[in-house]
Amino acid sequence: MVNESAQGAADVMCPGCGGTTVRTVEQTSGERTAGGKADWRTDGKPERGSLADRLAVSPGATDSFDSVMHFLEGMVLTALGVGLAYTGVQQDKPLYMIGGVLLAVLLFVGTIVVIRGEARERADVPRGESRAERLWRAGYYCSGCESVFCPDGSQWQGTLTPEQFKMLMWTEAGYADRLAHDDKAKDATVPAEALPRTGGPHRHV
Ligand SMILES: [Zn+2]
Repeated sequence: MVNESAQGAADVMCPGCGGTTVRTVEQTSGERTAGGKADWRTDGKPERGSLADRLAVSPGATDSFDSVMHFLEGMVLTALGVGLAYTGVQQDKPLYMIGGVLLAVLLFVGTIVVIRGEARERADVPRGESRAERLWRAGYYCSGCESVFCPDGSQWQGTLTPEQFKMLMWTEAGYADRLAHDDKAKDATVPAEALPRTGGPHRHV
């Protein structure tokens, strides 16, 4: 059971509904180890649509081991195309040969594109994460009205929906394009009046 008023949150009040049933955004993700296991998949990523996922600090990246596996799978399929082409040469069937070569080239190029994309994720996510984390650590979540706010207003003003918060955070970190996979957050817009005029987050699009 998570003590919702733990860690000095007892005197923090939601500017949206005045509720005090608030916890830090960090605590919502910490539920992984505090009885909220249902929100987490076995690979350590939050379940889609769960609160931890809606407030996730970053999209995460495919780890190197998975990339190696994807590469091997791609190469096995490429080899099948090569095999088909070889059969075509052996049996004098040009259609097999051409089809096999096309298939092999397509699968090879496709595999390289996927692997490069995954490598880019691994580079992008840590680069932006410290910027996202500044907002993530400043955020409080109110279960009363399901909104995210920054108690001292230093990072943003008023309340945001989890989706607006995620948009703000991921934009700040430079990986807002990854929200394309997030049906709820991809269309979120952060109200201009929520952003401080100086010092705070700026858009890096
Ligand atoms: Zn509230």
